[in-house]
Amino acid sequence: MGGLFGNDPLEALGARNARRGKREPVAAKPTVRAPREPFTQRVLVAVERGVDAYPDGLTYGVPASLAPLRAGQRVIVPLGRGDAATHGWVVRVLETADSAGIPDEKLKPVRSVDPTTALPAQVMELARWMSAYYACPLGVALAGVLPAAVKQGVGRVDRVFVAMSQAGRDVVAALQARAGAKRSRTMKAAEGAGTEPALPKLSAPQKRLLETLTDRADAEIESTDLLAAASVATKQPLKALIALSLVTTTTRTHVEADWLEQAARVGASAATLPTLTPDQTRVVGEIGATLARGFSQHLLFGVTGSGKTEVYLRLMRQCLDAGRTALLLVPEISLTPQTAGRVLDRFPGERVAILHSALTAAQRNQQWTLVAEGHARVVVGARSAVFAPIPDGALGLVLVDEEHDHSYKQDQAPRYHGRDLAIRRAQMTGCPIVLGSATPSLESWFNAVERRTSTLHRLPTRAPGLITPKVEIVDFSQDVRRFRDRRVHLLGERLAESLARVVSEDGQAILLLNRRGYANWISCSARCGWIMRCEHCDAGMVCHEGPRARFVRCHHCLTEQRLPEKCPDCAARVTVFGLGTQKVEEELSRVHPALAVPGAVLRVDGDTMRSSRDLHEALGRFATGEVRVLVGTQMIAKGLDFPNVRLVGVVNADTALNLPDFRASERTFQLVNQVAGRCGRGSSGGRAIVQTFQPDTAAIRMAAAHDFEGFAKQELETRKRFGLPPFKRMARVVVRHESETAARSIAQCIHDSIAALPESAECSVRGPHPCPVTRVSDRFRVQVEVLAPDAAALQRLITAARNAGAFPGGEVAAVDVDPVALL
Ligand code: ADP
Ligand code: ZN
Ligand code: ZN
Repeated sequence: MGGLFGNDPLEALGARNARRGKREPVAAKPTVRAPREPFTQRVLVAVERGVDAYPDGLTYGVPASLAPLRAGQRVIVPLGRGDAATHGWVVRVLETADSAGIPDEKLKPVRSVDPTTALPAQVMELARWMSAYYACPLGVALAGVLPAAVKQGVGRVDRVFVAMSQAGRDVVAALQARAGAKRSRTMKAAEGAGTEPALPKLSAPQKRLLETLTDRADAEIESTDLLAAASVATKQPLKALIALSLVTTTTRTHVEADWLEQAARVGASAATLPTLTPDQTRVVGEIGATLARGFSQHLLFGVTGSGKTEVYLRLMRQCLDAGRTALLLVPEISLTPQTAGRVLDRFPGERVAILHSALTAAQRNQQWTLVAEGHARVVVGARSAVFAPIPDGALGLVLVDEEHDHSYKQDQAPRYHGRDLAIRRAQMTGCPIVLGSATPSLESWFNAVERRTSTLHRLPTRAPGLITPKVEIVDFSQDVRRFRDRRVHLLGERLAESLARVVSEDGQAILLLNRRGYANWISCSARCGWIMRCEHCDAGMVCHEGPRARFVRCHHCLTEQRLPEKCPDCAARVTVFGLGTQKVEEELSRVHPALAVPGAVLRVDGDTMRSSRDLHEALGRFATGEVRVLVGTQMIAKGLDFPNVRLVGVVNADTALNLPDFRASERTFQLVNQVAGRCGRGSSGGRAIVQTFQPDTAAIRMAAAHDFEGFAKQELETRKRFGLPPFKRMARVVVRHESETAARSIAQCIHDSIAALPESAECSVRGPHPCPVTRVSDRFRVQVEVLAPDAAALQRLITAARNAGAFPGGEVAAVDVDPVALL
């Protein structure tokens, strides 16, 4: 298989079990022995209860009447001493060798199979792989795979369809004959009494139901529709007809949900198919040629606005034409407003399933079911859509847009990376995968350029009609020196002037203030030294403007409280220093009168956007032009495509640069480059102004020059020198404990037991060190880092450490394989 991950960690697991002579765990012996059917299969089942107790699943026997079972089916099994009926999933069908030595009598039988919910075997395989690779129990992995809404069957209804039976047809015919006979009797008097068949005595509503059914040419009609059409108010008459076998019924399960397709569309969509540029044609041709050739990996490196999405759409079309299903993963943010709309527009005849976090439970279940039943051949979704239940054998193409985006990494268990799982899924399926970005992650770039495990395709110029934005770097320290008043300033002279011009010319603008840009701090006006810090974390509190009053919040544990009026130490007034997106609104209203109009400036950040639905609406208002300036965090740096945006301002580009994380430069480059790409999408050109206190920083200079390759080359040299990813693979173990000493000693234990393993010989185990943010929610955080030469070596070590019990259970130690953030 090769590719990104090298060896299958599951094989490593199996090998280890065999070596130690360990067996698959077996459910305890049943207490009551009833005569049983012989087992024709043995299966490994992940039970939904007590997942921690049986991290790899339990072995059960399959009676002949239920066989054959396959991986992915949901079953009910007896569990524990009381043999409580428990739901579980068939993880895999065991080879005889797997469970050799366990006699049938020691196994409990699978009781029944749940016909309504099953995972494709391939998705189960992916979950199993995830559990091994990302070091989390299988039950936790499965919980991440299957939305709760699906498990609970939210919105699932059974619809009853009614059709006439042969007996019913006979009765209707007889009734009509009798009515006809009556008529002729009254008209020309009886010529002789005919023998009438014995007809059941039917009430008027029953007759109406039968007549309605007869009038319908199509065979069946849903029961509620039938009752309405026949003006029958209760179900009783229908039930009687069913009892008399005059009608037959079929029950079909159906998931209902209000679905606003509109909700997926924001912004303009091209009605006509654009003519591909020569570059696009080349890329579509090259990747398209691999569609029927099994697994292959591609990196589509195209500058922002180069028409990558257009390439995806063409490839999806080819995939559909070949009779296969296409899966497109996008970061949550760009999915919500735009990409989904473009896909819906492009494939009007197809059912497009959309999976994102703004769905209601019923919608989620509905979309999932649509995919599972094979009705949706186009699937678009955020991170977890990598588990979309596309039937086995149907998937023909996987696309990952903005593959560098950190939102693909889940920050709680299972801590998987959606992009990397997507690669794995494509490998398992045997279909091509395309990763696209203007600023590829150094991991993907390295794979394409150095390891050559993926093929590099370039789109070096913007699509026709799009202008490459001119990026200007402004040394903000110069501006700061010029400010005369004591107010907080976010906009330097050049940014303020350009903004005023764009607004007076009816253009729109985007201002990026990244998260750390909020960093305001609350302190004593008498400067006694008091600064308001979170009681639970090693962090300052940040002031926010609430609907009624100001409040303070900790950005780590999300504790909130009112803004105190007085310094607790000296009772002087409290002041808020620093900045925030809230301040920027005030400042903007002074830049141009049009921006003082309520609604003209819109903030998009964690405070104002509580749900993706809010975000959705917000972007809708920006699309219509009602909102003139969008102000926000990195949320808005991605994927948005609004033609009237003529100016993009990065208020403070340094903030990501100073994070204690080896990816700080990479992030800064991505941020500046991506946000600059948001303008120049219309005919009116675009300008990006980047304010920074460190104008000479390479990441900022090269982002402004649109020089990704230069940046990547330089950054890779640094990574190589320090032995960091992508040259090495990393895992990070974070220990959290109320006591600092305990946290340290637990971390030390973890470090020592990993370092003692023979598998660690080729790796480096570092730590324990305090995490950059040392305390969160009253718990101290200490980390141990493991760096391995490749994925396989890392996997061997982590698996060995898990098996040796190096990681304490529960919440104490979190293992993060391939972490993307190190705070
Ligand atoms: P990217 O995904 O690389 O940022 P998009 O696919 O969003 O780029 O393309 C940017 C804009 O250019 C979109 O509005 C798109 O409709 C348009 N576009 C893409 N390809 C072409 C083309 N060949 N001719 C004309 N317009 C195009
Ligand atoms: Zn806190
Ligand atoms: Zn004070």
